[in-house]
Amino acid sequence: MSGHRQLSGQIRETHVGEKVHLKGWVQKRRDLGGLIFIDLRDRSGVVQVVFNPEKSSEALATADKVRSEYVIEIEGDVVARDESAVNENLATGRVEVMADSISILNKSKNPPFQPQDDLDVAEELRLKYRYLDLRRNPMQETFKLRHKATQSIRNFLNDDDFLEMETPMLTKSTPEGARDYLVPSRVHEGDFYALPQSPQIFKQLIMMSGFEKYYQIARCFRDEDLRADRQPEFTQVDIETSFMSKEEIMDMTERMMKRVMKDVKDIELSTPFPRLKYDEAMERYGSDKPDTRFGLELVNVSDVVKASEFKVFKGAVESGGGVSAINVKGKASEFSRKDIDKLTEFVKIYDAKGLAWVKENEGELQGPIAKFLEDEVAAGLREALEIEEGDLILFVADKTSVVHESLGALRQKLGRELGLIDESQFNFLWVTDWPLFEYDEDLDRYFAAHHPFTMPEREDIDKMSDQPGETKAQAYDLVLNGYELGGGSLRIYEKELQDKMFEVLGFSKEEAKDQFGFLLEALEYGAPPHGGIALGLDRFTMILAGRTNLRDTILFPKTASASDLLTQAPDSVSEEQLKELHLELNEKAKENQKNK
Ligand code: ASP
Repeated sequence: MSGHRQLSGQIRETHVGEKVHLKGWVQKRRDLGGLIFIDLRDRSGVVQVVFNPEKSSEALATADKVRSEYVIEIEGDVVARDESAVNENLATGRVEVMADSISILNKSKNPPFQPQDDLDVAEELRLKYRYLDLRRNPMQETFKLRHKATQSIRNFLNDDDFLEMETPMLTKSTPEGARDYLVPSRVHEGDFYALPQSPQIFKQLIMMSGFEKYYQIARCFRDEDLRADRQPEFTQVDIETSFMSKEEIMDMTERMMKRVMKDVKDIELSTPFPRLKYDEAMERYGSDKPDTRFGLELVNVSDVVKASEFKVFKGAVESGGGVSAINVKGKASEFSRKDIDKLTEFVKIYDAKGLAWVKENEGELQGPIAKFLEDEVAAGLREALEIEEGDLILFVADKTSVVHESLGALRQKLGRELGLIDESQFNFLWVTDWPLFEYDEDLDRYFAAHHPFTMPEREDIDKMSDQPGETKAQAYDLVLNGYELGGGSLRIYEKELQDKMFEVLGFSKEEAKDQFGFLLEALEYGAPPHGGIALGLDRFTMILAGRTNLRDTILFPKTASASDLLTQAPDSVSEEQLKELHLELNEKAKENQKNK
C-alpha cells in the first residue's frame, strides 16, 4: 500500500475527500449482509471502516475473514457519515472510511475477553492477559497520563538544575522498616546483594559527592505482606538536595506539584499547601494522612466527660486514654439502631471496645447512654460538638491510639458512604512535626519512625536518649486526598549525631560499623547539610487518573500474593542454577516444588 500511515483516532470531517492509509487492530466487525463494518483501533483511538462490494469485492472478501483483534492494514477514502449515522460519543463519529483495500498483517485467536472500555471480568484474567487488558482505552489513557506526569516532573526538576542520576540495584541492605529482596552472589559464596528499598543512602552519598541536586525516577523493592495499595516493586520520584532548608524543600515540592497539576489536569493549585502538625492531624482526623475534602472532624471531649460519673468515659480518661467524638451533622434520622450496630462492629476491627452514641431530638440528647450524662456534661458536649437538632454523635472511649485509629477509619467510611467527598477536588497538605521514634509494644523498644538518617529537631537532641518518644523529627509528609503521596526529611550530616541515633536504636558500635561503616566514614569527610523527599509515582498516577486500584497504574503489576500472573514469577530454577549460587532448598521448599 502506498502513502504513509495515518492514525485512526485522528480522522475528522476536515479529512473528508482524502485518501488514508491505516494500520491497527479489529475492535469489532459487523456483517450487515453484503456490507462489512470494522471498528479499527490503534493507539490514537477508533474509526469506522466500511467494506462495500461496489468499491472492491476483493477487499470485502478479505474483510469477511477478519475477526476480533486481527491486525490489519487498509486504505480508503474518508467520507462524511449521514446525519442519522453520526456517533457523538466517538471523536471520529462524524466520518467513516470507505475501504478499497485491506491486508491482514496478523491473525488473532479469539481473545479471552474483548479489550473494550467497560470490561467486567475477573482481575486475574486481566493480569494473565495483561497485553490484551492494556489495549483497552482506559488503560492506554492511564499510561499516557503517567507519562505526562513523569515528563512534567522531569521538566520541572531539569529546569531547576537537578541532575538525573542512577543508583545501584544490586546493593547492600538499607533497612527502612521492611524486609529486603535478596540476590545471592555466585562469586562470593554465601554473600547476598539486596535490591534497594529506596536509594536513600546512595542519594545521601551523592550529596557527599558534591552534586547538590539529584533526582531519579527510582524503582524500589520491599518484601512486605501486601495490602491492597502496596506492590513489592514500585516507583518513587526520589529527590535529594544540599544546603536547602526544610522550608525550601517543601516550597520546591509545592512548585513541582503546581507544575504537574497544570500540565496534566490544567488545574491551578494554590500554594503554600496547608500544614498540619502530626499531633493535630491525629487529634482532628485520627489519621496521619487526612482526607480534608470533607468535615466530620474528631473532637476530643475528654476534658468535658472526665467530670461525668459514666464509667465508660471516666474510666478511659482516668487510665490515660481519652474520649473523642464525631458529629454526623443532621443525619440522625438516616441511622437506625441496626445501622449503628454495624458501625459498632466496624470500629471493633480497630480494637475499639464499642461505639457510644446520642442523637439530638426535640432539644434532648437521646440514646442508650443519654441517661448517664449529667446536665453539665451534656451542656459541655453540646458546646464542644456544636450539637443541633437532628445531629448524631458517635463516641469512642479508649486508649488514645485506638480512639484515633477507629474514629479515623469511621470518619473515612462515613465520608464515603454519605457522599460527602467532592471527587473533583485535589487537597494537598503537609503533615509536619513527626515523632522521630516509634515504640513497638511487643518488642518493647523504639524504632526509627521514618529511617535512621532523619534529623531530629535541634532542640530535641538532648531528649533522644532519655525521652525518645518526645523527640520530634525534621520530617514532612505530603498528603493528597487521604493518601500519603510521599515524605522526606532533613538528614543527619554529623558523624556524632548519627552515632547517637544508632545507639538509641539499640545498635552496638560494631553493628553500626558493620552495616553502615561506609556512611559513617563518609560523614567524616565534609558532608554537607542535606535533605530530600520521595514521592510515590504509582499512587500519584492513580489519584490523577481518578482510579482506586494501584495495579491499574503499573504496567505489569503483581497480585496480593506477590506473583505475576503473566510470567508466573516467582518460579522454580534449575538444580544447576541453585548449585552455582551455593544454595540448597530445604525439605519444605522441595515438597512445595514437587506439588506445583
Ligand atoms: N527514602 C525515603 C522513603 O523511601 C524518602 C526520603 O526520606 O526521602 O520513604
